Amino acid sequence: MTGTERRAVVVEDDDDIRQLITHSLGMQGFAVAVASNGREAIDLVTSTDPDLVTLDLGLPDLDGIEVCRRVRETSQAYIIMISARTEEIDRLMGLETGADDYLTKPFSPRELQVRVNALLRRPRTSWDPTAGATGPIPVVVPNGANGTHVVAGSGTADTNGHDVHATHTGRGPRSGDPDPVVRHGLLAVDTESRTVTVHDTEVELTRTEFDLLTTMLAAPRRVWSRAVLLDTLWGAGWSSEEHLVEVHVGNLRRKLTRAAPAGTRPLIRTVRGVGYRMEEPDAQ
Ligand code: CA
Repeated sequence: MTGTERRAVVVEDDDDIRQLITHSLGMQGFAVAVASNGREAIDLVTSTDPDLVTLDLGLPDLDGIEVCRRVRETSQAYIIMISARTEEIDRLMGLETGADDYLTKPFSPRELQVRVNALLRRPRTSWDPTAGATGPIPVVVPNGANGTHVVAGSGTADTNGHDVHATHTGRGPRSGDPDPVVRHGLLAVDTESRTVTVHDTEVELTRTEFDLLTTMLAAPRRVWSRAVLLDTLWGAGWSSEEHLVEVHVGNLRRKLTRAAPAGTRPLIRTVRGVGYRMEEPDAQ
């Protein structure tokens, strides 16, 4: 295994399904380690630090939800939870399990690959606080060896409404590090450590929730439609899955609200029939 190889942990007690998933991920270039129960899974995630975990809900020892939460305590891996029951998936989506996506058995290897690709295409949020005025997607990727950066994404933001403390402008080579903390009212998002606080209370977010939040904060006065958020975070081909956005935004909003002082307006507003936008900092 080389240092750049993508790693996956497959957690499944059914031999046939485990082999199918292992084979499918192997075809996608993952080095796969397998676990057939929850305790093994937690140990394996700790020891291998995977990029992706597929997690069967029905395990012989621990509840899959419990495994997911425990894994999430130490791992930033994308987690796909797998269940044989559609109604179970519906229930899970209303919980804060820490999973990034859900899949119902039976599924084809192709279906799994599509889901995995969609997760991997997500912006790895390496936030550029100056990017807000130029595009909604706060992704900065190194471009070659000359130290320049490319801001991914397109579209326009009406204004760069958040309170950032960048000391530079433009997107050339940097002199001095920009402050990685983006502030918006009570909210502070440290894009280097990927930590979020509301009114100095730290809020534990899943990767999906964090990516949603940083995407919206890139243009906080913009109204973000479900379709655009879906396209930005999940990639093309997901246009019928807008409920995913609703579920993850709902969980994100609940966590942020819980950390805010009582009586504070929700930090994310629903714009009826359209989508979501950040609450004005002054209104908090
Ligand atoms: Ca099972």
